Amino acid sequence: MSNGAVVGINWGDEGKGRMVDLIARNYDFAVRFQGGGNAGHTVINEYGKFALHLLPSGIFRRNVVNVLGNGVALDPENLWDEIKTVSEKGVIIDENNLKISDRASLLLPWHRELDALEEARLADKKYGSTKQGIAPFYSDKYSKKTVLSGELFYPEELRRHLSDLLEWKNLTIERVYGAKPYTTEQLDEWLEKYAYKIKPFVTDTGKLLRDAQAAGKKIMFEAQLGSLRDLDFGIVPYTTSSNTTASYAPIGSGCPSVKIDEVIGVVKAYSTCVGEGPFTCEWFGEEAEKLREAGGEYGAKTGRPRRVGPLDVVATRYGVQVQAATCIALTKLDVLSYMDKIPVCTHYVLNGEQTDEFPFPAALPDARPVFEYMPGWKTDVSGCRSWEELPAEARDYVLFIEKSIGCRIGYVSVGPERDSIIVR
Ligand code: GDP
Repeated sequence: MSNGAVVGINWGDEGKGRMVDLIARNYDFAVRFQGGGNAGHTVINEYGKFALHLLPSGIFRRNVVNVLGNGVALDPENLWDEIKTVSEKGVIIDENNLKISDRASLLLPWHRELDALEEARLADKKYGSTKQGIAPFYSDKYSKKTVLSGELFYPEELRRHLSDLLEWKNLTIERVYGAKPYTTEQLDEWLEKYAYKIKPFVTDTGKLLRDAQAAGKKIMFEAQLGSLRDLDFGIVPYTTSSNTTASYAPIGSGCPSVKIDEVIGVVKAYSTCVGEGPFTCEWFGEEAEKLREAGGEYGAKTGRPRRVGPLDVVATRYGVQVQAATCIALTKLDVLSYMDKIPVCTHYVLNGEQTDEFPFPAALPDARPVFEYMPGWKTDVSGCRSWEELPAEARDYVLFIEKSIGCRIGYVSVGPERDSIIVR
């Protein structure tokens, strides 16, 4: 096997970061191909605890070259701050192990502000944005109204380009939102303070990866968020603004001919969701509070309490199909150890009929969950390192999920640390 992808099957926050950190040692390259600094991949290893926003989670492995592909929302401010924070903990980040695509578009200073202005305008109809500028960024990218990181090598042309964009964007900022316009001085300051700082990392990563492929190197792709947040296949409009699916990796990394041999879909042993939108299995009140506390379910980027509920087979099976996952990593099994019996949503009822199919977004709010209950194991499993060490009830729970979602569970994670994992 040569190339792999680690992707989210559900709403994100499944534990992709810990999986990439674990398996990166088997690869030569770790590539982020979409999304921006709007979520956090939590990694706990010998350097400490990190919530990585833009840096690929392979950054801790000395043998791995980390790439930010053309598909990412490249926010120089976020990235530069992150490089400094992570470096301070002793992690070496330099031009040899971090490469930024010269075709990655730059998230500009006004994108974050526009995100906040639009969420404020939407008021109680808001989408639940993390206000990192991602939606305005991708809108502008597809309108061809932002700049490529490679333009940093052409300073005069870049200033002219930015000045045109400034004039255009201020029309929206002032006339639509009644906010203060941006100035050329602000852009100059942003260029010096952030954009030019990342220039040493910028290169033709498409060529780099194509050459790597030709030389038989192994590439791993790391997705942000999950299937249900995919711009095309997720719960529109409560999605992110990019494609979170493995099939986008060849495009978003600049390596269109790449073949992905293994797609590891990460699924949490229960459901969580950050932000707005229908969440069929949602728990409220005391039982939600208990699960949230047990799993430490607070956003890595925003600190927002995550919505929680039992595992949703209907949504997960759909997520597996959308990702074309070949293998599942089931995370946070240890969190369920406190439960006497464990609910699993096996079907939905929609319009009075039972269904196995994940509904069209507009129909989803009317879907009602049908639960089956599995016996709990009521014992701490965080020290288990082999399948046989797991209590029989825990193994049954894993096997039940495997059968229900139709994909082999190859990894069972029982703790956040790098080695708290069972490989089946
Ligand atoms: P990602 O964005 O998919 O990487 O996920 P997040 O980092 O947002 O959220 C996953 C959280 O679960 C992090 O706090 C991880 O440290 C933690 N985590 C991952 N796997 C496990 C596990 O098996 N057990 C426990 N208890 N925590 C885990």
